[in-house]
Amino acid sequence: MRVAGPASSRSLLFLANFSDPVAGCGPAAVCDHPPVHVVVLAGGVGAARFLRGVRVARQAGDEVTAIVNTGDDLTVHGLRVCPDLDSVMYTLGGGIDEERGWGRAGETWTTQAELACYGAEPDWFSLGDSDLATHLVRTRMLDAGFALSDVTAALCARWQPGVTLIPMSDQRVETHVLVDLDTGPRAIHFQEWWVRHRAELPAHGFVQVGVESATPAPGVLDALAGADVILLAPSNPVVSIGTILGIPGLRDALAAAAAPVIGLSPIIGGAPVRGMADRCLPVIGVPTTAEGVGRHYAARSDGGLLDGWLIHAGDRADVPGVTVEAVPLLMRDVAATTVMARTALDLAARCAAGRPQRPGQPGA
Ligand code: GDP
Ligand code: CA
Repeated sequence: MRVAGPASSRSLLFLANFSDPVAGCGPAAVCDHPPVHVVVLAGGVGAARFLRGVRVARQAGDEVTAIVNTGDDLTVHGLRVCPDLDSVMYTLGGGIDEERGWGRAGETWTTQAELACYGAEPDWFSLGDSDLATHLVRTRMLDAGFALSDVTAALCARWQPGVTLIPMSDQRVETHVLVDLDTGPRAIHFQEWWVRHRAELPAHGFVQVGVESATPAPGVLDALAGADVILLAPSNPVVSIGTILGIPGLRDALAAAAAPVIGLSPIIGGAPVRGMADRCLPVIGVPTTAEGVGRHYAARSDGGLLDGWLIHAGDRADVPGVTVEAVPLLMRDVAATTVMARTALDLAARCAAGRPQRPGQPGA
């Protein structure tokens, strides 16, 4: 594991100076700089698309690790399903259905139709035929005693995402939503609220079931401690990034990391780009604005998370103690997303250059 210090700051500055908007540093290119380790906190679809840009933006030798939310995971028809891990893995592996943003391209639904003929519940969560193979392999490995992080690595051996994917925890931590049903107050699984009820059932709060006894998955704390840059993907701040940060030790690891922490707003013009983050933020009392989310994450210097906060061009945000910059944040295609990722790395480089070194760092 590399120790972040002056050398890292130098390599970040080098990275920031690399200006080709799309090509990255191909195998034939000469990249004479120390490798950089970029760590990204990731949810599902928003993070998957962003990581596609980060993957192009990095240069030869650079390493990218994604710490992925598993609070959405659920068991369906006896199979363990990890929606966010799979969205990231399929997207980076070239197997995603681009239109839906989840599941496999060219999917068929024969098994789903057969299950419906049996009246098998839940009927509101769809699993395609190709996708089922992933869940069969995962469930079989989990049942055999492998940890989710091992299973994820095994699945990625097929998909070759080019980014190291680590679940936030190997233990089960499931997001549940507090709602009122006809039968009284209940906590329902996040997926039931999100997919079945389209997040339209008024929510009173979110609970991370199992979080007290959860620990970060192997590699998570080392990645954060050894990172040169930490990015908060433009993911749902409540049920993606917030869930990861709920794992005991994660928030402290971010606060203690030598790397600058840069967040990208998933809120543009006062609304999520897609998805229903606007149904989640009010539940925790955060305005659905780039400023609201920035202030929710807050400055590291103020006990929060951020050194830098990227908001969409035209938006405004005042986040005390945080360098805020407005740049295009719409992930229209990989080229636009790559520019976005480069902008985040560039801001990280400038934050690293401007930050006083911490005690114990070489040269401090
Ligand atoms: P999920 O777990 O599948 O919901 O995915 P994430 O939590 O990773 O991402 C959901 C968030 O991605 C939503 O709040 C969207 O606003 C955000 N998002 C999607 N597309 C874009 C985009 O093009 N730009 C930005 N800035 N955010 C986006
Ligand atoms: Ca998710």
